Amino acid sequence: MATIFSHPAVPIGIALALGQKKIPRALAVMGCFACCAADLDVIGFPFGIPYGSQFGHRGFTHSIFMAAMIALLCAWRLPKEKDTKDLPPKRIFAYIFAVALSHPLIDMTTDGGKGIALLWPFSAQCFFWPWRPLPVSPIGKSFFSPYGLHVFLSELCMIWLPCLALGGAGWLARRALAARKETP
Ligand SMILES: [Zn+2]
Repeated sequence: MATIFSHPAVPIGIALALGQKKIPRALAVMGCFACCAADLDVIGFPFGIPYGSQFGHRGFTHSIFMAAMIALLCAWRLPKEKDTKDLPPKRIFAYIFAVALSHPLIDMTTDGGKGIALLWPFSAQCFFWPWRPLPVSPIGKSFFSPYGLHVFLSELCMIWLPCLALGGAGWLARRALAARKETP
């Protein structure tokens, strides 16, 4: 996996690009949780679920199917909440689906561990991208080590920088559009 500190770069980048009117802060916060949810599967380790199992780490929680389920749940639930009640469910679904799916797609670029069960429940096959530039995240205490720092710096360059650049470009484009509308 990529680390839990880097997956939220995607929902934050998209929210910056589209702006508060389209993606209010409460939805962006939910996006940060949604994009990290797949790694809840690590709780299977103490229960003896083997790493290679489709119910273990990088198994079913990392599938397109689960990203769609999380997005459906949010699209159903969030319009009932105070801070997100005026948002169209279609927009909530599209945003949450995109950010939840970004998790396995980023994990597929890591250079270690096993592949991702992206097509579960239709196939248990595990996938990687052909190009895997991200060093795989250590799990547990070894995160606070020189290797953990190397992983974090790599993710800073290859996840945070592109996402913030995308967010910044969107923000600038929105400002330019607003300025053009204001000029008579
Ligand atoms: Zn993961």
